[in-house]
Amino acid sequence: MDFKRAVIKVGSALIAPTSNGCSGQYALAIAQFITNCQHQGKEIILVSSGGVAAGRSIIHHGSPELSVTTRKAMASVGQMQMMANWQRFFDNPCSQILITQSDLADRARFISIKETINVQLANGVLPIVNENDTVKTDELAVGDNDNLAALVAQVCEADCLFILSDIDGVYTKDPKVNSDAELVPEITEITDAIYAMAGTSRSHLATGGMKTKIEAAEKAIEHGIDTYILNGSKSETFASLLQGNNPGTRFTAEKEIITAKKHWLKHTLKSQGQITLDAGAVDALVNKGASLLPSGIISVSNTFQAGDTIELLDDTTKEIIAKGICLYNHNDLRRIMGKHSDEIDTILGHNYGDVIVHRDDMVILKEYSK
Ligand code: GLU
Repeated sequence: MDFKRAVIKVGSALIAPTSNGCSGQYALAIAQFITNCQHQGKEIILVSSGGVAAGRSIIHHGSPELSVTTRKAMASVGQMQMMANWQRFFDNPCSQILITQSDLADRARFISIKETINVQLANGVLPIVNENDTVKTDELAVGDNDNLAALVAQVCEADCLFILSDIDGVYTKDPKVNSDAELVPEITEITDAIYAMAGTSRSHLATGGMKTKIEAAEKAIEHGIDTYILNGSKSETFASLLQGNNPGTRFTAEKEIITAKKHWLKHTLKSQGQITLDAGAVDALVNKGASLLPSGIISVSNTFQAGDTIELLDDTTKEIIAKGICLYNHNDLRRIMGKHSDEIDTILGHNYGDVIVHRDDMVILKEYSK
């Protein structure tokens, strides 16, 4: 274990195994592992699920299908139970940090979270993070704690992310139905084949535990954070880790990491609109490291303001090739698209600069970057 600062994400199945209140059944071994790490001088931040599962027995609900409001009520009361459950396994104090997507998307709040965690770690406190389920809305949700943990790992500049659940790691096939399925110990690149192996796809329609874990690993390794998917219901997992072994699936961090700003842009900002680019603009962006000029824009969709994040599409493939901060709003853009930069002033009567998306405010998606 050669990490200095790790985020450990613990899934609901380990906090409330019967979905009926919290239990120490698995939390105890996890807490012992955390304490062992701390004794070795390592810093740990916990991202804990389980609010909803812990509050389930307290809030009346008629059917197994919970309404959004019922889930929020459960999350809020269960959060107290979950925190109390953790605290009983630690001598040092735990802190509660509840965040939403909008907290991570706002640069000032992002930095505030980071500074708070740094002070707490310096004082021997164990920060415990969860999504603020009560106040989040669909638009403001990270949605799952795997992705949240990857973002938290980025916020606090961790060098390792452990995702603990009740599955051993990524298998070559679904182990529940294929007796010849094998655990994959090491993944160096996350491709469509990896998503497919995990029985899921990158499609927004797909759901399922492994998809969000691989998404989280993809976010983390891009930021230089080694990521493990591990079975936290087996105490051997922790013994093995402490001996320096890998008992699950390890995703190796990329050597060339993208800058913190571009990572933040790609992963924490939701896009407000889309613009489609001609082949010349796509080539300039992908191969020449250029900023986006109005001349290469073919169409503009949705409504957005100057400063919003937008997706840039290749007209030939209709795929998203990049994401960036747009310096003009959708109305202005519709009027200047296809035109030369030096015509902007005449057409609009104002000018925020020659470029539509500056190179420094743009991230080319991995499949396209050279
Ligand atoms: N925030 C949710 C909870 O505390 C968990 C979300 C997840 O497990 O991905 O219940």
